[in-house]
Parts: sequence; C-alpha cells; structure tokens
Amino acid sequence: MPSGKFDIIIAGGGISGAAIALFLSHLNTNVTILESRPSRTTSAEGGILMLAPNGMHVLNGLDLAHKLLQRDSGIQVPCLTINDPAGGLIGKVPQGSVERYGFASTMVMRWDIHEVLLDEVERSCLNVRWNAQVNATEESDDGVIVYWTEHGLPKYKKVDLLIGADGIWSAARPSVFKCLGLSAPEPTYSGLVSMGTILDVDCIPGFYGFLSPERPCVMIHGRKGFIGMALFDKQGKKVGWWTTHEAADRFREEWRIPKEQAFREMRERYSDLAFPVPQLIAAAEASGDQPFIWPVFEVEKLGHWHSKRTVLVGDAAHAMPPHSGQGTSQSLEDAGYLAYLLRQYLEKSSSTKGFDVENLTSTLATYQASRQPRVDAIIEEANRQGSQKKKHGAVGWFMKKWMMKIVFLFMQESWSDGWFGYRVPGIEEWAALRASTSTRG
Ligand SMILES: Cc1cc2nc3c(=O)[nH]c(=O)nc-3n(C[C@H](O)[C@H](O)[C@H](O)COP(=O)(O)OP(=O)(O)OC[C@H]3O[C@@H](n4cnc5c(N)ncnc54)[C@H](O)[C@@H]3O)c2cc1C
Repeated sequence: MPSGKFDIIIAGGGISGAAIALFLSHLNTNVTILESRPSRTTSAEGGILMLAPNGMHVLNGLDLAHKLLQRDSGIQVPCLTINDPAGGLIGKVPQGSVERYGFASTMVMRWDIHEVLLDEVERSCLNVRWNAQVNATEESDDGVIVYWTEHGLPKYKKVDLLIGADGIWSAARPSVFKCLGLSAPEPTYSGLVSMGTILDVDCIPGFYGFLSPERPCVMIHGRKGFIGMALFDKQGKKVGWWTTHEAADRFREEWRIPKEQAFREMRERYSDLAFPVPQLIAAAEASGDQPFIWPVFEVEKLGHWHSKRTVLVGDAAHAMPPHSGQGTSQSLEDAGYLAYLLRQYLEKSSSTKGFDVENLTSTLATYQASRQPRVDAIIEEANRQGSQKKKHGAVGWFMKKWMMKIVFLFMQESWSDGWFGYRVPGIEEWAALRASTSTRG
C-alpha cells in the first residue's frame, strides 16, 4: 500500500477544475488548484448559458444540483422557441424535462455554476492558489514537475499527476504534446462572434409576455445572423440576450471594441428584425453597459488528451462551440468520468505496490478512449448548427427556413436522449464516499 497520498495539481479553477477537485477530495489525494485569475471575485464573469440535464446529473453527483437550483438565477427551459426575422414561428426544440431526465435544461449565469462549485471548494478547505499561472512542465517516470508563477514569483512542485483544466488557451495542452515530442495545435478564430448584455425585462413594454416562464427562451434566425434571448431568474425580471454572427478576425486586444461600435454593428445587422430585437438593442445601448464580446475560437480535434502524467479536461481537451449548449455539461462530464477512473486506479494502488505509472497512463488512455467519441459527435452537430448562423443569400435562407420547419415539426423529446439521458458511470456512488469522508472528519 502506498505510504502517502496521491499528489495532484489542477491547472485552472474554472468549471471543470473546481468540479474534479471536489470529486478527488473524497479519495486518497492531496489536491492543489492553481488559478491564474487574481482572486475569486475576478472569476465572476461570463454570460448566460444552458446547463443540460446530463451536466446537472454531474453536479448532483457532488450534491450541488439542488444548491444551483436554489439560487435566484436558474430557470427551467422546457423548449427553445425558434422564430423567423418577421416574428413568425419556425418551430420548437424540446430541451428535456424533469419527468424524462430527472432534471430539465436550466438557463443560468456561468458564474452561478462557478460560485456553487467555489463555495463547496472553500467549505471543503481545498487548497486554491489564486494569481498562480501554470507555465511549463517536465515529466519523468516518477513524477511531473509543474512550474508556475504565483503573484509574480516563480514556483515549482513535483507531483504524481497534473490535470489541465485551464480552458481553451491551455498551457497544459502544449505540455502534453511536448512530452510526446509533438507540437500542440493552437486555437484559431472560427469566424463567428457572440455579443450580448443583461437587461431588466420591463425596460421594453410588452417584453414580458413575449418571454414568459412558459416561453423563457426565444431564438431568431435572420439572414445576417442569429439572436437569442432568455429569462434566467426565478422572478422573471432579468433577460440575457446574445447574438452570434460572422465578423472579421481582429487581433485579440482589438476584440475589446468600444461599446458604441459594437452597438452600431448590431443595429446595422439586426434593424430589420421584428419586435423585440431593435427595441432590445436600443435599450441595451441606452443602459450604458459594455456588452460582452466573445469571439468564438476553436481547436482542431486533438489526437492526445494525455501523456504519462498529464491529462486534459474540459475546453483544454476539446474546445466546445457555444452553439452546442453543451460546453459546460461536457466539461462536467469529463470531470466526473476522470474522477471515476482515478478512483478505481487509487483503489487498485492501495492493494498493490503503489502508484504505478503504467497503470496511471493506461487509466488516462481509457479516459480519452471513452470520452472522445461522445465529445466529437457533439462538436460535429454543434458545428453544423453554427454554420446555420452564417450569412445567407435569399435562396439559401428560404431553404434553411423550410428545412428547419420540417425538422422541428417532427422532433420528439426523445431526439435528445443520447445527449441529455447520458449518465457518467459511478456518479451515484459518490454519495457514499462523501458520507464516509465527512464522518472521517
Ligand atoms: C471568465 C469566463 C467566462 C465565461 N463565460 C462563458 C459564457 O458566458 N458562456 C459560455 O458558454 N461559456 C463561457 N465560458 C466558457 C465556459 O465556462 C467553458 O467553455 C466551459 O465551462 C468549460 O470549462 P473549463 O473548466 O474547461 O474552462 P473554463 O471555464 O474556461 O476555465 C478555465 C480556467 O483556467 C484558468 N486558466 C487559464 N490558463 C491558466 C493557466 N495557465 N494557469 C492557471 N489557470 C489558468 C482560467 O482563468 C479559468 O478560470 C467562460 C469562461 C471563462 C473563464
């Protein structure tokens, strides 16, 4: 039996990093999270997103789904309503119900999910180092040395495993490839940008009514782009809205374009759409808020999610296009699945000779082999949906509209069983482990 605990560094304390740290805290591990953001409050960023039933089940494995649902933000979305530019209904897309999947799809702010996870990380006294940016690694059979900068000072530590949960601009990804003698693909701009803000629903007369708890999320496909809007709080007072449209690439700093320019671009693009789109853009501009501007980057399919002692999860492994509505849910699934396999690895290690590196590498290989086909299929479908958001000519738009009408007409709730009905193996077993670690004190 190994004498000490299995030492792990997690690069990134975002959604997947915080989630996997919580799962692993119930095992024979010593976990440190290194997060490049200066503090917890500076992490409270991001717009609204959909957390699908499959993602909710992973949060439930951490006993946190009910905590998310208790927050002010978070509204169940039984279906998406898809309209044409003139306000006519194209169709409704079911998003899963409690009856069918145990949880419905829930529209929330990203920071609500993050806050629920970080509250629990804090409550569990896990070691989070803020302002700690992972730079490089060096791997050998007996450990991986992680080099980082913390509050400007260089640091390093040798551990048994590095988990790269550091998002699309991952530093762990090139480390994995370097260990394998390869160079990692870089993120590239997809040609699409998302912009949006948060508004009070009563800033536009008649807006509440157009959106309601029965119809909380409406998406409008126009010829020049796409605009979505959703109520996301229980009182039905707040609306998050976002557009996705084609835009020329800019240098990364230039994406911080002034709000006047962002709103001018949106007005020009969407002024001919029916109520409430022009009103919504005018109200957002009048509010004086800076819109979030989110250029969509992608990373080509990775041949390698791991080396001997480094493994990638979430966007570091597979940057999910936002059109999938599955980015956060897939990063949670990764966290739950990898934790499940590491649990088995650590159980075996306790009865054999120790933390064997060959068994560890084969555990990481099983993780990639099991997760990648599912993730790839979701990315493929999301990219197909993303291409619908590009500019269309009159004929292309006519074809697209009628194709969508026909597809949505025959769409059943069961269409999403594969995505929403999926359960990470062993997810229910964490309840017993949590109980045993809390009695251990
Ligand atoms: C601030 C923010 C806002 C977001 N808002 C939205 C949104 O509105 N809608 C949406 O669909 N998706 C949003 N996302 C992306 C979404 O959270 C992810 O696609 C998804 O949750 C996958 O999670 P992840 O844990 O893999 O990556 P992320 O949630 O991106 O987390 C990665 C974490 O790693 C940290 N990090 C990066 N590099 C390093 C490094 N070298 N060393 C240490 N730490 C590092 C980052 O600061 C971040 O906290 C946002 C991400 C962030 C970071």
